[in-house]
Amino acid sequence: MPDKALWDSCLTFFRDSLPPQQFNSWIKPLAFEIDGDQITLTAPNSFTMKLVQERFLPEIVKRAQSFFPGTPSFEFRIGKKSSVVPAQKPRTNASNTARQEAPPAPKTSKSHNKLNPQLSFENFVTGKANQLAHSAAIQVAEAPGTNYNPLFIYGGVGLGKTHLIQAIGNHVRQENNHAKICYVHATNYVSDVVRAFQSKKIDEIKQFYNSLDLLLIDDIQFIADKPATQQEFFYTLNSLTDGHKQVVITCDTFPKEISGMTPRLTSRFSWGLTVAIEPPELEMRVAILLLKASQSSNPVTEDVAFFIAKHVRSNIRELEGALKRVDAYSRFHKRPITVELAKEALRDLLASQNKQVSIENIQKTVADFYRVKVGDLLSKKRTRLIARPRQIAMCLARELTQLSLPEIGAAFGDRDHTTVMYACKAVENLRTIDSALNADFILLNQILQN
Ligand code: ADP
Ligand code: MG
Repeated sequence: MPDKALWDSCLTFFRDSLPPQQFNSWIKPLAFEIDGDQITLTAPNSFTMKLVQERFLPEIVKRAQSFFPGTPSFEFRIGKKSSVVPAQKPRTNASNTARQEAPPAPKTSKSHNKLNPQLSFENFVTGKANQLAHSAAIQVAEAPGTNYNPLFIYGGVGLGKTHLIQAIGNHVRQENNHAKICYVHATNYVSDVVRAFQSKKIDEIKQFYNSLDLLLIDDIQFIADKPATQQEFFYTLNSLTDGHKQVVITCDTFPKEISGMTPRLTSRFSWGLTVAIEPPELEMRVAILLLKASQSSNPVTEDVAFFIAKHVRSNIRELEGALKRVDAYSRFHKRPITVELAKEALRDLLASQNKQVSIENIQKTVADFYRVKVGDLLSKKRTRLIARPRQIAMCLARELTQLSLPEIGAAFGDRDHTTVMYACKAVENLRTIDSALNADFILLNQILQN
């Protein structure tokens, strides 16, 4: 039976070449079967399948060719992992168990120093919006104090800053049970410092913070307008980074834009690496919903995930809130989750969102933005000055309206749905390599939603 050997070789290869959380998210859930020279690959959902096909299939095919005399044919399925060759246990499993059984880390003196084990890298979905922040976080978690110090992560509410900073803490704790880690929300840090000043115990608190291996401080904007706390934090930051101890900071804005913060501190923030988390695009919102739903016993199909993701665009916390509402509604009425049911459950939310973005509005806004005519966007002209805005407008229409690909194609001068699909892909790719275009896209998205 070549199937086990072949799949084992693929698993070994991916485990060694991918970061663990990517391996766990994309490769581990796959089922693999061989019948004659037909290979069937089953993924839990089409999003995972698409990603696997794009990124990992070439390697799997290459390996399959060395196991088969001829060229095997591939079939792809969406479904549960069952009746398949059990995937080899990740090599790290044994040591993970051992780690979990090890005694807990020595308690620090702070009661708010809590890491929530749910907020892990495994549970963190990545996409263009958070790729950079995510990979910086992984690097920092794998080798604290050596890469970017401090790591400064900024972004709007509900976009995953707390999740990411906590994931760093959880990862470091897993790797080293004795690491002295402190997660603190900046408001608690302020109270600590104020209390210490009042009770003349500032040396104690200095000592506590300066003795850490890893300081995770969340929402640093809350120390704005608090000069004494800022001064204290400035010393702690210097002392920790000088001693190659890792500091990770999150904030709701770019360092230089925090008002009420001393410039020596904001400039110090940028000594390491500053990365942004942006609002998630449609595909990522769908992936997040599917991940959250897969952790519950109430299944959510992809069309429901798309429906919710299309309507809830602002941030991930609201996305989760919407999913919870749909879930509760379905349990209460004892009905399975369908698009119909989601519509009912989210009625209020949909009503308040009545201001749907129309495709005409998108075309006009994009045309104005790039100083071209709406007629040009709908025309057959293919010069880049027109084709690029057209592609961006199509991509925005896919994100912001309920229209299907053929309907969007039709609204752009009777184009085929494959043209729209291609446009979305092209814009997606361009956004990763062209930061000016990416900024335009985000701005247009915001303009249209306001
Ligand atoms: P912030 O601190 O930026 O306001 P949070 O980290 O609290 O946002 O995120 C809000 C919610 O969304 C949390 O429940 C978090 O687990 C979830 N979340 C955020 N980003 C992601 C992601 N990339 N993948 C999965 N869940 C996410
Ligand atoms: Mg937060």
